Amino acid sequence: MSEILSGKVISEQMAGELAKKIIGLKISPKLVIVQVGNNEASNKYIEYKKKFAEKIGVQIVHKKYDEKVDEKTLISDIKKYNTDTSVHGIIVQLPISKNLNKSKVIESIDPKKDVDGLTSSSIKKLFDNEPGFVSATTKGILKILDHKKINLAGKKVVVVGRSSLVGKPTALALMNRNATVTICHSQTKNLEEETKRADILIVAIGKPKMITKKFVSLGQIVIDVGITVELDESKKKVVGDVDFENVKNIVQAISLVPGGVGPLTVACLFENVVLACL
Ligand code: NDP
Repeated sequence: MSEILSGKVISEQMAGELAKKIIGLKISPKLVIVQVGNNEASNKYIEYKKKFAEKIGVQIVHKKYDEKVDEKTLISDIKKYNTDTSVHGIIVQLPISKNLNKSKVIESIDPKKDVDGLTSSSIKKLFDNEPGFVSATTKGILKILDHKKINLAGKKVVVVGRSSLVGKPTALALMNRNATVTICHSQTKNLEEETKRADILIVAIGKPKMITKKFVSLGQIVIDVGITVELDESKKKVVGDVDFENVKNIVQAISLVPGGVGPLTVACLFENVVLACL
């Protein structure tokens, strides 16, 4: 029977530590969440972020725009928050409408307030292995591994997925921790040969239960980042990218979905907000 890696307990510990730090800061941290449209998953993520913020004492300003919002208005509003000294962090909840230039909108965030670590300035720092804001999901993945006290140096890590939001920053962060990293994607040939070779397998593809037992091997640590909401007998259910029930009997350890990387992503976002206040 493999070890089940939960993110909930670590996230609760982090909430306690962050709340204490915030009391010590003697200022009230403020995070602006910019949302465009009414994406159901985004609404849920924002709800979790608001709950966590309330628990630790961070103020949230939730700016929700119509999906037809004009790019100039959006960017001009973000720039106002850049100069507002009462605001410490700004995030753009993705996805945003296709008619907007995503990188232009993200680039308009002041790198000092880029708590999602998505501006080119933050990515360059990660690229150069310099301190800076790292994507909350990447930090969440590292928290699970650190909690298990895994020394990443020399470990074979396979990351399936190469998005700018998850796959690429995670691969870079792991390389910065001296892991030997392989990145796989939809064009990878013989994916299962690659994934089976890993000591640590990280999956972020958005394809529910795609990683079945034929993709894994004995002794591996599997981190499932995937979140897909499926209808199960008319009830909504969150499903990961890994076929948990069948994989859990083979590998050494596997993260939960829900309750694995998800809660840690939220906690790590607020860790970045606190860093932005220092
Ligand atoms: P994207 O759709 O941006 O990227 C998906 C990646 O998976 C792409 O690189 C794609 O390859 C690759 N891929 C797709 N199909 C396959 C396949 N059959 N075999 C191998 N690779 C494949 O998704 P995100 O990175 O934004 O998100 C991935 C998942 O993680 C989603 O379920 C999302 O909801 C979840 N997520 C979870 C978070 C959390 O906090 N737990 C936070 C953010 C995301 P290619 O580049 O070739 O197209």
